Amino acid sequence: QNSSNNLFLRLGGFFSSLQSSLSGAVRILELLDNKKEPQMKSGIGEPSIYRNDIVAFKNVSFRYGGKNDTIKNINIHARKNETVALVGPSGGGKSTILELMLGFYTVEYGDIIINEKSIKSKSMTELRNEIAYVPQNVHLFGTTVEENIRYGNLAAHDQEVIRAAKAANAHDFIMALPKGYQTIIEQGGEGLSGGQKQRIAIARAFLKDAPILLLDEPTSSLDTMSEGLIQQALERLATERTIIMNTHRLSTIQKVDRIYVINQGEVVEAGHYNELINQSGLFNKLIYTML
Ligand code: ADP
Ligand code: MG
Repeated sequence: QNSSNNLFLRLGGFFSSLQSSLSGAVRILELLDNKKEPQMKSGIGEPSIYRNDIVAFKNVSFRYGGKNDTIKNINIHARKNETVALVGPSGGGKSTILELMLGFYTVEYGDIIINEKSIKSKSMTELRNEIAYVPQNVHLFGTTVEENIRYGNLAAHDQEVIRAAKAANAHDFIMALPKGYQTIIEQGGEGLSGGQKQRIAIARAFLKDAPILLLDEPTSSLDTMSEGLIQQALERLATERTIIMNTHRLSTIQKVDRIYVINQGEVVEAGHYNELINQSGLFNKLIYTML
């Protein structure tokens, strides 16, 4: 892995951990947009895709640089407007799978097809337009609440920012802040709770309105109130979108179209909740650890 390349990709605008001013970030994004991404040579022939898939992992393997593959020959797919859940023990590779889709790392073995095109032939701009991402740990910029939400779509009007915040169940707590939408958030969002930060990230995703949404453990370590509000916001967001989410929530996985059980970098089971509970595999053991 080329680490400077990865740094560039990480800065590429999925709102994760950029620690600088918003205007600085925008400038970097503009630079990145003008910079042609290095293209990987693809394998032999163009991989075929499943019918109607928006996302398809085809025999993807990946390693961070150590001896062993972190992701081992994975096949995962999601059709248009499906919700797919990745579950499994911590360290299994779920976050890495999402980060590969975001272009944070280069896929060297196998391929990821998004909207019928290999990720290897997509620019970061193209990927950013297709995918919204709510990371596990939301980092906010040291600027106003309004600008933090508008980062999902820089051209959005004030009314659209407010509409997105309402849909994300963030409007009420924002209005209770000292200066409402004009309140300056501390770098990293220190003054806010985890649930509030995630609702701002969800508001960005609403505003961005991308067809694919990636969620990493959206309700981990939250108070019950925040969790309910986030769940409700996510259900609103789920209509007309393809969603791939990492989750531990039993009530969520009971509803999704397909579950992939990820263990030590492999898909060990896949199917609907009703199918998986009738198998005596890892899922059946995990179910007792879910909330
Ligand atoms: P999960 O999300 O299922 O908990 P991760 O995708 O975060 O799993 O991690 C899978 C494995 O990859 C773990 O062993 C983890 O320690 C390792 N890993 C994650 N991120 C990095 C990284 N940036 N560099 C090296 N190893 C990493
Ligand atoms: Mg993870």
